[in-house]
Amino acid sequence: MKSVVALSRLDTYNLKDVKEALNKTFTLAGGIDSLKTKGRRVLLKPNMLMGAHPDEAVTTHPAVFEAAASLFLDHGFIVSAGDSPAVESVYSVAEKCGIAQAARRLGVQIVDFKDTVSAEAPNGKVTRKFNIAKAVLDNDIIVSMAKLKTHQQMYYTGVIKNIFGVISGLEKSKFHFRFVERKYFAGMIVDLHDLVAPSFAIMDAVVSMEGDGPRNGSPVSTNFIGASFDPLALDCVCSEIIGYKSNDIPILYEAKKRRESFEVEVSGDEAVSLKPSSFKLVEKVTDIAFLRKILNRRIYNLIRNVFIPAPSIGEKCVLCMKCFSICSPQAISVKQSKEGRHLKIDLSKCIRCYCCHEVCAFEAMNIKRHFKF
Ligand code: SF4
Ligand code: SF4
Repeated sequence: MKSVVALSRLDTYNLKDVKEALNKTFTLAGGIDSLKTKGRRVLLKPNMLMGAHPDEAVTTHPAVFEAAASLFLDHGFIVSAGDSPAVESVYSVAEKCGIAQAARRLGVQIVDFKDTVSAEAPNGKVTRKFNIAKAVLDNDIIVSMAKLKTHQQMYYTGVIKNIFGVISGLEKSKFHFRFVERKYFAGMIVDLHDLVAPSFAIMDAVVSMEGDGPRNGSPVSTNFIGASFDPLALDCVCSEIIGYKSNDIPILYEAKKRRESFEVEVSGDEAVSLKPSSFKLVEKVTDIAFLRKILNRRIYNLIRNVFIPAPSIGEKCVLCMKCFSICSPQAISVKQSKEGRHLKIDLSKCIRCYCCHEVCAFEAMNIKRHFKF
């Protein structure tokens, strides 16, 4: 059976227009009333990566959140919402990105994902045990609501990667340290996604993020929203609209490999009609992490510094220490010099997870190649 992906052109975050477009998209996708067979408690999982103004396109736009939440409420569901940002409280992020205000208007509770439970993923290919947000088990229906963005490490982030937020705060960075190779990290995300099993997915691509995503890229109008009962199908269609081949996205490639058959049907606006005239993608790099186990450490580091871009701290650094806290391999240290305190990155310890770049709200962390011999 083909997976239906519904797409609707939308060039504004005016709430009335978003609700109308989303309502049409839900109907094209198959209608949300069929979800009632699973129960009535819906947990919305918007992308609340970190506190940023909605115009920065870091987080799911509050108008998309409000429109979706009110449609679920209109259909008789009981709605809550949550996430677990890496270095800030979810309540603070929700206030900054406008989701808290939307939730208050609708009487929707925001849940902190810090309260976790151990859960088994019996079919996991990379890992079978996770500590996930208790709220996932407390609800009948999980809805992934992503912002369409590029991603420095995984190239693209959408509705599947968005589910990584059910892992509490800084625990997420430990997974980067455990699964340094991109394909294993992707496999772990797919294991987690299969465990959480979102029943429905929504893509906010009215304004997306191009370039240095998922935090420091640039907002760009892509003028559409999407929805599907199949998150993989929605991600494949959206990644291809912005110019990727979905098989080049490690998470999508790993997820597709696990399907016996996978066919997608687009309803609503044609995907080709929504393609932006230009979109700055993250350059694909060869994953050489597997060489760690074969090569002498010094030679491996030399090769890695030539081929794999690494973070570098620039003059805008205000020593907020968020990058320091999130760096699992402890590659970032504090140094004292005549000029004062500053941070230094030990590239031989750096695993190129780019979490530091993701949490830096001051555009002080740059990703570049270090040609050091
Ligand atoms: S590089 Fe960014 S995240 Fe790190 S301490 Fe400086 S300002 Fe903070
Ligand atoms: S320095 Fe940045 S990219 Fe390198 S391991 Fe630490 S968090 Fe990851």
